[in-house]
Amino acid sequence: MSEIKIEKINAIWLQGQGCTGCTVSLTGATHPSLPDLLTGFLPQAAGVALVFHPTIMLPHGEEAINVLESGLKGKLDPFVLILEGAIPNEELAEKTGGYWCMVGENGEGKPLTLNYWVDKLSERAAAVVAVGTCACYGGIPHGKPNPTGSKGLLSYLGRNWRSKLNLPVICIPGCPAQGEHVAEVLAHLVLTARGFLPIPELDEFHRPKFIFKATAHENCPRAGFFAEGKYSEEFGEPYCMGLLGCKGPIVHCDVPKRGFVEGVGGCTTVGSICIGCTEPEFPDEPLSPFFKKAPPGVFVSETFGDIKGKLYALLHRLKSRKI
Ligand code: SF4
Ligand code: SF4
Repeated sequence: MSEIKIEKINAIWLQGQGCTGCTVSLTGATHPSLPDLLTGFLPQAAGVALVFHPTIMLPHGEEAINVLESGLKGKLDPFVLILEGAIPNEELAEKTGGYWCMVGENGEGKPLTLNYWVDKLSERAAAVVAVGTCACYGGIPHGKPNPTGSKGLLSYLGRNWRSKLNLPVICIPGCPAQGEHVAEVLAHLVLTARGFLPIPELDEFHRPKFIFKATAHENCPRAGFFAEGKYSEEFGEPYCMGLLGCKGPIVHCDVPKRGFVEGVGGCTTVGSICIGCTEPEFPDEPLSPFFKKAPPGVFVSETFGDIKGKLYALLHRLKSRKI
């Protein structure tokens, strides 16, 4: 990608089939925080304007829709298009004369669907970012039996789709997405657009590797108990929760180490199993049933890891030690 000097960058945040949890999560981010991004606290990432966000913007009604219209006319270039929530199949709804997901209406009072805005705005966007598992891969709305035919941006626009800055769809999954993951990736993209940082390296599911490379298991503070073969049999016990259904070994996420808000919380850290909310299959198999042990492959490697861990621990304890 060639170096592009950009002073001001607009952000258009659309909401589809979701619960607004990712927005709530972003407003709780602290390093960096949303105000850090919007007020220029981080000098090199300054100049970001959140011009459209259904939950936290001041304009409403026609005034709000006019913002999206100006995006279509190129008046907001360059802008990042951010989606929270999944995208339904409007052709299914049309069969009965309805619609699933509407964002405003046209001059004749006809509903303008989320799909309409995603189709049009993605053509002009400098980058497109999917926030939360619903927006990335379909998430809960996409879960079986998926009555609205919903999907995430990665399959809606396609893996080969590229933005004006030649970037593929960038996915920040999580249910909800961890707030600082979102703030960090947005800040990174601003720095990329200004030529300060390379394009973030993505994994096969378009997740930035600098966040999603390691598994929840590798990041888990209970992994020591796993290695020693000590398992919780009931919630509330402090050991590895593999037997209670934890899917950490097959899930990419740093939340158990990083916490959820300012280092606090974080699923396995606070006694909950990992249900794999950052994975494309979520909430279906192999991540569900949530309270069932992980699938056979993991079970086998877990058992070997288990035996190996117990052996190492035993040998270590048998070693004579000198002070
Ligand atoms: S299986 Fe779950 S609880 Fe056990 S160490 Fe791995 S991530 Fe932590
Ligand atoms: S640890 Fe598991 S359940 Fe918790 S946020 Fe990460 S992927 Fe989701």
